[in-house]
Amino acid sequence: MKLFSGTFGVRTEAHIELVNVTPDVSRLVVKSGVREGIALVYSPHTTTALIINENESRLLSDLKGAIKDLVPWNKAYEHNLIDDNAPSHVVGAFLGGSVGLPIARGKIELGTWQSIFLVELDGPRSREIEVKIVGE
Ligand code: ZN
Repeated sequence: MKLFSGTFGVRTEAHIELVNVTPDVSRLVVKSGVREGIALVYSPHTTTALIINENESRLLSDLKGAIKDLVPWNKAYEHNLIDDNAPSHVVGAFLGGSVGLPIARGKIELGTWQSIFLVELDGPRSREIEVKIVGE
C-alpha cells in the first residue's frame, strides 16, 4: 500500500469565493502513482470549507449568495471582540473542512458535473490545502 502526502497553495482574491481545485487534486493523485484508493482533501484553516458541486458560473454565483444568506454577517458575534470574522468561522463549520474521494484507474472518481471547490470565507488570503492519498 502506498501513502502519499502533498499540498498546493491557493491565492484567493475576494472575501467570499469558490475556487475550483480539481486540477490541483488530480495532479497530486497522478503524482502519487496510486491507481485504486482514497484521497482526503483537507483545508487546515478555520475560515474556509471544501465542497463538491457543479462548476457552472451562474450556480457559483448562487452559492455565494446562499453563503451570504446562511448567517447574519453584521450580528454582534462574541468572537468579533477579538477577531472580526465570526460569521466566516460559523459558515466554515457548517460546510466542513474536508472531502474524501475515491480513486479508480489512477483518477479521482467525480460525477460528470462534479468539481472540488475551496470555499474562501474570509479572503483575500493565501491558503495551503493538504491532500493525503492511500491505496495501491
Ligand atoms: Zn477568527
